[in-house]
Amino acid sequence: MLAPVRLVLVGPPGSGKGTQGPVLAAHLGVPHLSTGDLLRQRVEAGTDLGRRVGEVIDRGDLVPDDLMIDVVIDALGGAAEGGYVLDGFPRTVAQAEMLEKDGSPLPAPDLAVHLDIPDEVVHRRLAGRAIEEGRRDDADPDVIERRLQVYREETEPLLAHYRDRDALVTVDGDGPPEEVSARLLAAVDRFR
Ligand code: AMP
Repeated sequence: MLAPVRLVLVGPPGSGKGTQGPVLAAHLGVPHLSTGDLLRQRVEAGTDLGRRVGEVIDRGDLVPDDLMIDVVIDALGGAAEGGYVLDGFPRTVAQAEMLEKDGSPLPAPDLAVHLDIPDEVVHRRLAGRAIEEGRRDDADPDVIERRLQVYREETEPLLAHYRDRDALVTVDGDGPPEEVSARLLAAVDRFR
């Protein structure tokens, strides 16, 4: 396999994608993009679109696939040719397939990195993040439950999708951030 400079991070909410994504991107020398952050910027901008996106996020649901691909292309554009670490995209098999279609404006990833953590760690971390970052979708137990359900139903099938393409590596995401980073970088370097 060629150097895996195009990586996507897959994991439930609170699995550490936002913490580990920038570490991984700096290690690989490629841009890091969090679709959650990009969407929150649109919400803050207060446009009509931002308001609709905010409602979806606050329910714990997913933003429609066609809007997501536009958001990612907008942010990454031609820079994707040089590699990327995407955090939070793709989040559905349909989004993954968009990247694999002939003529896709964004090249498909070389590797998907699955950050694996137990549900009880998700709950513990999101409770901490709700206080530290004030994210509304981290504070409501019903919304957290909905996000976990959406993850299982819509996002987890991505693991089989990338496994079938020999492009999946699973890393234990539980533990202090620096230990997870060390495991992650070692796992990714084995593919380079
Ligand atoms: P995150 O910061 O990754 O937890 O994302 C926060 C929220 O943004 C998610 O709960 C979704 O509502 C939305 N979101 C982020 N990435 C995507 C995506 N690739 N597809 C659909 N919705 C997304």
